[in-house]
Amino acid sequence: KPHIHLQIQISLFGDDDRLIVAKDVTRLYQLEQMRRDFVGNVSHEMRTPLTVISGYLETLVDNADDLPPKWRRAILTMDQQASRMEALITDLILLSKIETGEHSAPDSVIDVGNMISLICNDARALSGDQAHEITMDIGERRLLTGDESQIRSAFSNLIFNAVKYTPAGGQVFISWYTDRNGAHLSVRDSGIGIDPVHIPRLTERFYRADPSRHKETGGTGLGLAIVKHVLLNHDGNLEIKSRIGEGSEFICHFPRGRLTELPPETPDSEI
Ligand code: ADP
Repeated sequence: KPHIHLQIQISLFGDDDRLIVAKDVTRLYQLEQMRRDFVGNVSHEMRTPLTVISGYLETLVDNADDLPPKWRRAILTMDQQASRMEALITDLILLSKIETGEHSAPDSVIDVGNMISLICNDARALSGDQAHEITMDIGERRLLTGDESQIRSAFSNLIFNAVKYTPAGGQVFISWYTDRNGAHLSVRDSGIGIDPVHIPRLTERFYRADPSRHKETGGTGLGLAIVKHVLLNHDGNLEIKSRIGEGSEFICHFPRGRLTELPPETPDSEI
């Protein structure tokens, strides 16, 4: 069934006068959808051959000790680059799904405390010898309603970024709190910080504050775009605060409606 998409702008003049402008944006909307579908399809098609290449590379890496050093280096480099490409394709597929507003599963009740502890363990593994101090403070009301896998991707992207963009020995502080406006996840780091000119564009696909760094950090350049769209899908938004050389704070805001009341506790006497 064909849909027409209209963009409506209402301006108020004085008490009674209104100017209503309706613009037909159907074509624009269709083009945007075609772009998303195309990116999604291409990524899917590329995944299969890449899986085959990675499979053979894995066998070669396992036997690399028997090879001359020049070959060994070449194989290890190919393996690393194939992994980067796999990460990129995974993120592209994820982003094209999330952008359509499609949920991968019906909303469920997420224990944010549990989720963040697990992500922090992975973040400590990522930090490895660099020994970042990763701490968290999780408030009382920790049940959020949403798409668990999308929320997990958003939180992991922010927490992993905090580690990636903070020099060895730095701090990462994660807090989850609720107030009358809703629920908030703040990921703060003592890292390299971001020049304010870049902040408004950081959630664009492949936008990087410092393009020379991305090779070392190994990111896909899609992390914050994913975070933004996950939050949009959950009626939330992302706030970014940063000072160059001092650190950054990324805050995910969720409306109150996304918080689930804690189930009433069973009094001991009833057990
Ligand atoms: P990438 O894969 O490059 O990390 P992201 O979309 O996750 O892609 O982030 C986009 C850019 O935002 C990064 O390249 C980096 O310049 C900047 N950035 C993200 N998180 C941080 C942070 N915690 N501290 C400093 N810069 C950051």
